[in-house]
Amino acid sequence: MKRKTLIEPFRIKVVEPIHMTTEVYREEALQRAGYNPFLLHSDDVIIDLLTDSGTSAMSDRQWSAMMVGDESYAGARSWEKLFAEVSDLTGMPYVLPTHQGRAAERILYGILGGKGKVFLSNTHFDTTRANIEFTGAEAYDLMPDESYDAALYLPFKGNIDLEKLRASIAMHGAENIAAVIMTVTNNSAGGQPVSMQNMREVREICDKHHILLVLDGCRIAENSFFIHEREAGYDKKNYREIAREMLRLADVFVMSAKKDALVNMGGLLALRSSAMTEKCTNLLIISEGFATYGGLTGRDMEAIAVGLREVFDESYLRYRIRSTTYLGEHLKEKGVPVVWPIGGHAVYIDAQKIYPHIPAHEFPGQALVCELYKRGGIRCVEIGSVMFGKYDDQGNMLTARNELVRLAIPRRVYTQSHIDYVVEVFDDILSNASTVSGFKIEYEPPFLRHFTARFKPAPVLVDSEKQHA
Ligand SMILES: *Cc1c(COP(=O)(O)O)cnc(C)c1O
Repeated sequence: MKRKTLIEPFRIKVVEPIHMTTEVYREEALQRAGYNPFLLHSDDVIIDLLTDSGTSAMSDRQWSAMMVGDESYAGARSWEKLFAEVSDLTGMPYVLPTHQGRAAERILYGILGGKGKVFLSNTHFDTTRANIEFTGAEAYDLMPDESYDAALYLPFKGNIDLEKLRASIAMHGAENIAAVIMTVTNNSAGGQPVSMQNMREVREICDKHHILLVLDGCRIAENSFFIHEREAGYDKKNYREIAREMLRLADVFVMSAKKDALVNMGGLLALRSSAMTEKCTNLLIISEGFATYGGLTGRDMEAIAVGLREVFDESYLRYRIRSTTYLGEHLKEKGVPVVWPIGGHAVYIDAQKIYPHIPAHEFPGQALVCELYKRGGIRCVEIGSVMFGKYDDQGNMLTARNELVRLAIPRRVYTQSHIDYVVEVFDDILSNASTVSGFKIEYEPPFLRHFTARFKPAPVLVDSEKQHA
C-alpha cells in the first residue's frame, strides 16, 4: 500500500540542541542586529533557512571516511578517491579541487574572461557574474520571458531561451562568446530545473559555433530528480545515470560542493581540455594549493567523495525534493503567495503580495524576513530591493523586479515537525499583515549591501499625512 507520509530516510545519531527563545528576546536581538538577519547570532535562531549552502548534515559514512583522510601534501589517497569519483560522474579526465565553488569560478573565468568577452547563461549566479565581470567581460541571462511569471507552471522553468541564445551569439559574434554556462538547477531563478532536451539543444548550438559549454552543477542531483519525474523517456533511468548523461554534454563542470556534495565546504572544477587544465592548474597552485588538494584537506576530499555518491540515493532525493515541495504546498494552501512551481532547494514567497501597503522602497521583503524571525525565530533572506536595489544619478532608489523572500532548506537537517512549525508561523504572519510596516536603510556598504546593511523601522504615516508624503 502506498503510504501518504514520506518519512525522513535516516535516523538521527548526533543532535545539536536548538536554543529556544521568546518573542520579546527576539525583538531585542533583531534590534541589536539592525533588523538584518545576517547580523544575528545563529544561537538566537530556532529554524535557520538562510541558505542551503554548506549547511548539510553529513552522514555517519562521511564522518567515518574523514577519519581515514590522507593529509599528504601531494598524491594523497583521499585525492585519488575524490578524483575517481568526480571523473566517473563527469566523464572528464581532469579534476581540480578548490576550497569552494567561487574559487573554481575565479580560476575558470579568469582564463576565459577579459575585456570584450561575453558569457551567456540561463541565469548567472551572483558569484559567477561577479567573477566574470571582475575580468572585464560581460554576462547575459537568457531565460524565456514566461519563466519570469511567478505563478505560471512550467516543468523546466530554469531552461535557457534557445532563440535568445542564437540571437545573442549572432549579435556579439561567436568568436567573442567565451562560454555558455548552464546553471543546474537554476539557483537565482528559484532552483528551477533544466531539461535534458534544453541542454542537448544548447550543446548543438555550441557545437555549431565552436563555443565552450560550462555546466555549473551545484545541484545536479536535484535537477536529475526533476528530469526523472517530468521529462519523457527518463522515468526508467536512475538519478546518477541522468546526471552522467547531462554532464557528458558539457565541456567543463564547476561545482560548489556545499550544495549537492552534502558537505560543509569545498568546490570542484572538471575539464576535458588538457591545455585549459594546464592554465587552470597554474592559477590553482598560486592561490588555492597544490593540484592534488586545492584548498581542501584530505578529510574534506573524503567527505565530498562519499557525499557525491549519497546524494543520488533514490530515497534521499525523493525525500529532499518532496520536503521542499511539502513546505511550498502547505504555504500555498494557507494562501501564502509562493513562486510556482516549487523548486528544488527553496521556497520563494512574494512579500509584496503579503504587504501591499509597504512600498518597494520600504522593503516589504525585509519586513517579512523580520516578522518571521520575530514571531517564529525563523531566519531567511530577502531577495528583492535590499539585495538588488540600485540608485540612479540623482540618488533615487531603483527597486528590484520582485520583492521575494527565500526559505532555503538545508539538506538532512530539519524534520517534518520543524517544517510544520514553519508553516504554522505563517498563520501569525498572515493575520497580522496589515499592522506591519516597512524599513529605511540606516547604514549600507558600497557593495553587496544585504550582508551588512542596518535598518530602522519606517515611520508609520497616518492617513492625513499620507496625502502630503
Ligand atoms: C553556491 C553557488 C556558487 C558558488 O559556490 P560557493 O561554494 O558559495 O563559492 C556558484 N554557482 C551556483 C549556482 C551556486 O549555487
